[in-house]
Amino acid sequence: MPRGDGRLTHDIDPQDAGPQDACGVFGVWAPGEEVAKLTYFGLYALQHRGQESAGIAVSNGKQILVYKDMGLVSQVFDESTLDSLKGEIAIGHARYSTTGSSVWHNAQPTFRPTAQGSVALGHNGNLTNTAELIEMVRQREDLAGSATKGETATSDTSVMATLLASFPDRSVEEAALEVLPRLRGAFSLVFMDEHTLYAARDAQGIRPLVLGRLERGWVVASETAALDIVGASYIREIEPGEFIAIDENGLRTERFAKAEPKGCIFEYVYLARPDTTISDQRVFSVRAEIGRRLAREFPVDADLVIPVPESGTPAAIGYAEESGIPFGHGLVKNSYVGRTFIQPSQTLRQLGIRLKLNPLRDVIEGKKLVVVDDSIVRGNTQRALVRMLREFGAAEVHVRISSPPVKWPCFYGIDFASRAELIANGISVDEIRKSIGADSLAYISLDQLVEATNVPKDNLCRACFDGIYPVALPEDDLIGKHLLEVQDTLPLEVI
Ligand code: SF4
Repeated sequence: MPRGDGRLTHDIDPQDAGPQDACGVFGVWAPGEEVAKLTYFGLYALQHRGQESAGIAVSNGKQILVYKDMGLVSQVFDESTLDSLKGEIAIGHARYSTTGSSVWHNAQPTFRPTAQGSVALGHNGNLTNTAELIEMVRQREDLAGSATKGETATSDTSVMATLLASFPDRSVEEAALEVLPRLRGAFSLVFMDEHTLYAARDAQGIRPLVLGRLERGWVVASETAALDIVGASYIREIEPGEFIAIDENGLRTERFAKAEPKGCIFEYVYLARPDTTISDQRVFSVRAEIGRRLAREFPVDADLVIPVPESGTPAAIGYAEESGIPFGHGLVKNSYVGRTFIQPSQTLRQLGIRLKLNPLRDVIEGKKLVVVDDSIVRGNTQRALVRMLREFGAAEVHVRISSPPVKWPCFYGIDFASRAELIANGISVDEIRKSIGADSLAYISLDQLVEATNVPKDNLCRACFDGIYPVALPEDDLIGKHLLEVQDTLPLEVI
């Protein structure tokens, strides 16, 4: 069970973390509106994408102010802070760290002074050529004695911000058109100078990024759900390889790279909100369709289909619909535990999964259950879940997973685990079944999952399932994530 539920698991036991999202980004250009508050609510809608830190940068046309801190959006900002952030343009960021540690310094937006003013940047994704870019920063500093010399640039985001600020004789817009074509990997960016809101998306469009319209302004956000919350109408996706600039002259668009779409398939399975639309596909409907296909591929004789809430719910509804087995809620999720930053005591730690999920004995006692979840990463959570359901009287527990086995790490902004930690690495489905103690276990096939998305297979990144990485990986990453040592178990294809 992944991050939405895995968040708390992560707090309780880092070894049991599910996939963690990279980040959520939001940007707004709307003179006359309360842009900081719009951004706050936008980030609120994107909270599921990152819970470690939150930040907002606002420009009043003369200077940029940045406020950021560790914690949830609602913990970082209050009314008086938002009131002090006055301006016409804002960007916001909710972070889960994939590179760099979880410290204030790495919270975003990242700010840099430039020769002509300043720039603030928020990033969702993960670059794969950061080392090369750091070298580029060094060369530029040596050549030009840049205004940013001396700034620490270690994470991929800080390197991008430093590069954007490193052109003494160019505007941020001109610098962006120099820098963007040099970036490799996944990046959905929002950034701004004092007068202009910018957004850009990598040539593969791995992470989502959409454009919306307010009555008097524009919005850019990771997901359409964030447009809905601020009353913006959806216009279109920012295209892979596209750069846009929005200011008093309207919206300008340029292409900095040829589009080669490889959208992350895991966004459909789990990462995005169910009420978001990606590539014209409604995520809830895709998840329900995955459940229907899962029921056709792996039927089972059972009394009740229950989801692992909330992320397993749409697929469980689909599974129940297709199989004719009644749908029910057998687990109650404690939705308000969230990420508290309070370490549970040893006694609480032993409760593990009970802190976030509590079974309903009346619903499950004596029943043959189909339990639908979206993914298995290390398997610890599912093992605890199956044990708990049996303790509460389940007669049989059949686990159905709405994604294929996760066998490969993600290098594009999702933190699953190293390959050695992934339970599906090198063992069979039946061995996983035994390990988690289920009566049966089945994962949807990759082909059925792809078909459920309605997106052509070639336009999707599926690397965590099939090891085919659409953007080349640096050798350091291959070694660091234990890919080279274990590639005998499956073919590794890097294209
Ligand atoms: S490796 Fe998996 S999680 Fe990462 S971008 Fe590709 S499909 Fe998404």
